[in-house]
Amino acid sequence: MQLVCLDLEGVLIPEIWIEFAQRTGIHELRRTTRDEPDYDKLMTYRLNLLKTHKLGLPDIQKVIADMGPMTGAKDFLDTLRRDFQVIILSDTFYEFAMPLMEQLGMPTLFCHKLETDATGFLVNYHLRMPNQKKEAVQRFKELRFQVIAAGDSYNDTAMLMEAHAGILFHPPQNVIDEFPQFPVAMNYAALRAEIDSAATRIASLT
Ligand SMILES: [Mg+2]
Repeated sequence: MQLVCLDLEGVLIPEIWIEFAQRTGIHELRRTTRDEPDYDKLMTYRLNLLKTHKLGLPDIQKVIADMGPMTGAKDFLDTLRRDFQVIILSDTFYEFAMPLMEQLGMPTLFCHKLETDATGFLVNYHLRMPNQKKEAVQRFKELRFQVIAAGDSYNDTAMLMEAHAGILFHPPQNVIDEFPQFPVAMNYAALRAEIDSAATRIASLT
């Protein structure tokens, strides 16, 4: 039995914080873990900024719904789900992802949760567990699935290494250079071809 694990942002939907910063004009929200390696500091900074700009969860969800998935993402996913069980492993939050998951036909998503106060402002975030992408792949392997994983960035490489086959989708050049062991697909047709070829390759493994 083969399972495909997909990253979400940069694979099926835009990078939420970056796109959100562009659409709202709040450029301070472009700050990423590259600028602030302390994730807790970064998230506290982001949540405070949203509150300062009086953006509650419904406002945020409306902006996110308008982003839409990446062009071709829904067709790619629908077709893939006919041939494989597909689980999306993401470091985003359900509250952010949901408007886009609806547009993708509600595939299965494992990610994290946000906490709102009574007035709808975001007050905290809850990571379900550290390294959940890699941990999930490990558990699927224990359940005797063969796992093919695809993602676009650094936070996917542990998952890609853990899987029976890992594929980079539209990654930045520095990730390609640092992880030459993974095939690279730059569009959905190429990604599907890599998934199919990985499926054939690993089918003989036990
Ligand atoms: Mg990504």
